[in-house]
Amino acid sequence: MDWPFFYAHHRVLARDLDAWAEKNIPAGSEQDVDSACRNLVRQLGEGGWLKYAIGGTAYGAASDAIDTRAVCVIREALARHSGLADFAFAMQGLGSGAITLFGTPAQKGQYLPRVRAGSFIAAFALSEPDAGSDVAALRCEARRDGDTFVLNGEKTWISNGGIADFYVVFARTGEEPGARGITAFIVEQGTRGFEIAERINVIAPHPLARLTFSHCPIPASQRLGDPAQGFKVAMATLDVFRTSVAAAALGFARRAFEEALRRATSRKMFGQALADFQLTQAKLAEMAAGIDASALLTYRAAWLRDQGRRVTVEAAMAKMTATETAQQVIDAAVQIFGALGVKCGETVERLYREIRPLRIYEGATEVQQLIIARGIISAFQESDGTHD
Ligand SMILES: Cc1cc2nc3c(=O)[nH]c(=O)nc-3n(C[C@H](O)[C@H](O)[C@H](O)COP(=O)(O)OP(=O)(O)OC[C@H]3O[C@@H](n4cnc5c(N)ncnc54)[C@H](O)[C@@H]3O)c2cc1C
Repeated sequence: MDWPFFYAHHRVLARDLDAWAEKNIPAGSEQDVDSACRNLVRQLGEGGWLKYAIGGTAYGAASDAIDTRAVCVIREALARHSGLADFAFAMQGLGSGAITLFGTPAQKGQYLPRVRAGSFIAAFALSEPDAGSDVAALRCEARRDGDTFVLNGEKTWISNGGIADFYVVFARTGEEPGARGITAFIVEQGTRGFEIAERINVIAPHPLARLTFSHCPIPASQRLGDPAQGFKVAMATLDVFRTSVAAAALGFARRAFEEALRRATSRKMFGQALADFQLTQAKLAEMAAGIDASALLTYRAAWLRDQGRRVTVEAAMAKMTATETAQQVIDAAVQIFGALGVKCGETVERLYREIRPLRIYEGATEVQQLIIARGIISAFQESDGTHD
């Protein structure tokens, strides 16, 4: 935290949240993931941490623009303690991010204070069975009918699906094909024709669902952003939070490293500690360097974004490197633990499951590779004068 990327308030935030999490976040995973998640959102609201998940001081936010470094510091700290606590915080931000960025004053007033208080749970519904990495292929449609839009279609892999109070849903409005014919809407839980069609279990359990919309009436006042700008709304929202996925991965990796160090220095074999073997030391060195490299890329992207710079390439580098590195670090930690590393309920076993989806969601590693390559090739062509 003494790196130049941070202001004093980021350091205080990291210290205070760590102490709060130690005291307030339950150790071990609860069986009922829905109520565990609801409780965490409420606790995070009561603790005042959700003021960093939204933007706009008029609505109770910590600042007018989302403080990316604060979001990253919070996700890193929460992920070190509990994947579900990190998830609860992140989804309040991602689910309401489009409202912070593109909402009307009435929409902001209606949703953001409740998201901040932890009394309203938010969700972001973009993916569909046939539109994941290729989001512009989405098929869910919203047809205008007077003062309402009629929503039909389905969404899947929606985090907080089943417990959210509202969903920011992206649907085709038909202005143009592909990315240019999509509009965003706020759909409240309980809207006629909206159903949770399936609850989905994943290796690191959290509320997740497939949603269906059948002739679902959405008042025109619930449209979010301009017509046909939904793709831009989705990408701008993801742009804010993509760097924070890297921060969460960093939190998981740091926790695994701490566990590995403790185990390696205490486990005796062949007359010495496991950490005394050079093979172990090589592992620990790789882990430490990978964690620092991830942290530097993560906080560079966050710092640049807070300076108002475009960070598409930097955020992609951070997300790709931090999630891939965390997977390697955690795998090495499991190896250092031996059989204990794969015993259900062990911290490194939990981390091994927690990290995996981060390499897939909010843009899989391959998608980040393409973003980085496109960005550097076009920057090169511009500087070289060969851009078409
Ligand atoms: C735990 C979890 C939570 C999620 N939460 C949400 C949510 O809240 N809201 C939401 O809208 N979505 C959510 N998602 C969905 C997520 O965004 C998608 O899973 C992701 O975009 C990938 O889409 P897909 O699963 O359909 O995989 P596909 O698009 O089928 O891709 C499969 C694989 O192909 C590879 N790939 C992709 N593009 C390329 C390429 N150009 N070249 C080569 N290889 C490529 C990648 O390895 C990728 O993993 C969540 C997913 C998970 C796992």
